[in-house]
Amino acid sequence: MIKKILFILIFNSIICYPNEKVSLSEIDYFKTGRGKPVVMVIGGIHGDEISGIEKAREFKEYKISKGTLVIIPEANKEAVRNGNRTEYYMQDLNRSFFQNNNDKSSKKAQEIIKVIEQYKPNIILDCHESYYNYDENKDPNFYIGNTLIFQQNTMDEYPELIFSLLEEGFIPLQGAEKGSLNREVSEKMNISVITIESSREDTVEVRKEKYETVFKKTLKYLKME
Ligand SMILES: [Zn+2]
Repeated sequence: MIKKILFILIFNSIICYPNEKVSLSEIDYFKTGRGKPVVMVIGGIHGDEISGIEKAREFKEYKISKGTLVIIPEANKEAVRNGNRTEYYMQDLNRSFFQNNNDKSSKKAQEIIKVIEQYKPNIILDCHESYYNYDENKDPNFYIGNTLIFQQNTMDEYPELIFSLLEEGFIPLQGAEKGSLNREVSEKMNISVITIESSREDTVEVRKEKYETVFKKTLKYLKME
């Protein structure tokens, strides 16, 4: 009897990877598995982009066969709670990375950077929503739906993955904004980042499928599924 129970305990510890919640002062993250490779998913840098937040919450329950998943479903908790892009007393979190400011958003950005330094992800997937489908002749603040944004380092490191994602219909964009996680982490830390911009012209369910496509292809490429 004792042997049997021991066996079950050992078996469970190998096969099941319950996620572990880690709470820092500004952000919470969820960690599943251990070792390399490491995939990090971020939702809620903008608190009103609900599909990425909901999908990141689902990803934290995902089972993997090797490596580590690090998920931050609500990067800006206050904005997520209130359904705002950014709170009135904060700067835009996605303009606050490596900007040496001393405000609330910069503190959140610095904590996210600390988690990135700790886990050194092979790739970061940052989930966002745009208002409308991509239109090169219109304002990129509103018309970048169904695009993937990445810098040259990500293209150099993951060309096959990128091409397989473009086959799914995403449009590739370069030139993320100064202070954005994408641009600053790519340039200053040389870590690959893909920002997924879904489109509010699609239903929430369709938007969530877009993140899932990128997530699953990334896990498959890194042999973590
Ligand atoms: Zn956004």
